[in-house]
Amino acid sequence: MDIEKITIVGGGPAGLAAAIYNARAFLSPLVIAGSPSGGQLMLTADVENYPGYESISGPDLIKKYKDHALKFGTRFIEENVSKVDFSKRPLTLTLSSGKAVKSQSVLIATGADADWLNLPSEQRLRGKGVSACATCDGFFFKGKEVAVVGGGDTAMEEALTLTKFATKVYVIHRRDKFRASQIMQRRVLNHEKIEVLWNTTVGEVLGEDRVEGIKIKTDGEESNLDAQGLFLAIGHKPATGFLKDSGVEIDEKGYLFTAGRCAWEEKSKKGFHHQCSSYKADPKLFESGFWYQTNIHGVFAAGDCVDYVYRQAATAVGMGVAAALEVEKYLAEI
Ligand SMILES: Cc1cc2nc3c(=O)[nH]c(=O)nc-3n(C[C@H](O)[C@H](O)[C@H](O)COP(=O)(O)OP(=O)(O)OC[C@H]3O[C@@H](n4cnc5c(N)ncnc54)[C@H](O)[C@@H]3O)c2cc1C
Repeated sequence: MDIEKITIVGGGPAGLAAAIYNARAFLSPLVIAGSPSGGQLMLTADVENYPGYESISGPDLIKKYKDHALKFGTRFIEENVSKVDFSKRPLTLTLSSGKAVKSQSVLIATGADADWLNLPSEQRLRGKGVSACATCDGFFFKGKEVAVVGGGDTAMEEALTLTKFATKVYVIHRRDKFRASQIMQRRVLNHEKIEVLWNTTVGEVLGEDRVEGIKIKTDGEESNLDAQGLFLAIGHKPATGFLKDSGVEIDEKGYLFTAGRCAWEEKSKKGFHHQCSSYKADPKLFESGFWYQTNIHGVFAAGDCVDYVYRQAATAVGMGVAAALEVEKYLAEI
């Protein structure tokens, strides 16, 4: 069986950007792009914040990345990786078809999907007024009224971001108190544009091809909320389940650790730094200077499966590029 130099898992912005760099460095990368491939941007109608494009649809942007990667010799398999064996060299990945791929290095770029309520009306109106990213889509709601669902720090941040655009922001929360940090709660509760709807759930999103209101239930009583946008902020699920028992260090929410993330969390005292034990046990991981290497030598990670803070296409691309450059250096050194 051939041994790949670099196998990239994930065909979203991070994986495709890495593929372009590794392909131009004559590493002939293999991308296991996932099924369906393309990632979160495939469901995004308008991207207006990707440098160089004033407006482009998510699928068009992905096609451009993919064509670019193909032009320089990237190979693609549109399947999922279902399990890995990183306990010996070469590294082994097993695909959903059962096919095995052996590789000297691996870059994991499998992203993190937003959690949705899974109401039929919410799914129909995704990208048409229903979103899970205020930084991405808030601008489209200038002068409108919107609602955010959630009660954690992300929901607070989304609501505060939306106050820059919307005239009114409702925060819909199913309990009578937030679990967000005190400082974020205070900012939300004291904001003149924000109204919190406690003990409230969403029944349906109203409208055929745009959001025209939200059916809500407060303490058992139904009513319609006049809003033109609905933002879900109830969590994200990193697509890292296939790494269970692989030895790759993963935090309690499913995000991957890299040496850079560990170093940053140690210094900032933020996040989940207590779990970076394997890095401390293997000083070479830090000495190598690879920010995007996981705790397994030769296994790198980039994009939204690591980044629980920014979650943008441009940041995922940046991480993918940095990881690809580290892969090149790693392969030159082994
Ligand atoms: C509604 C919405 C709107 C957005 N709008 C914008 C915007 O306007 N501007 C912006 O910058 N960002 C936007 N974003 C965020 C942006 O889409 C993400 O930050 C970006 O796509 C992350 O890229 P990624 O490559 O890390 O992950 P993803 O895009 O999630 O790609 C992950 C890839 O991994 C694959 N995969 C998953 N599991 C496996 C597996 N087991 N085996 C193989 N492959 C696997 C998937 O199929 C996919 O190809 C938006 C996100 C959402 C949800």
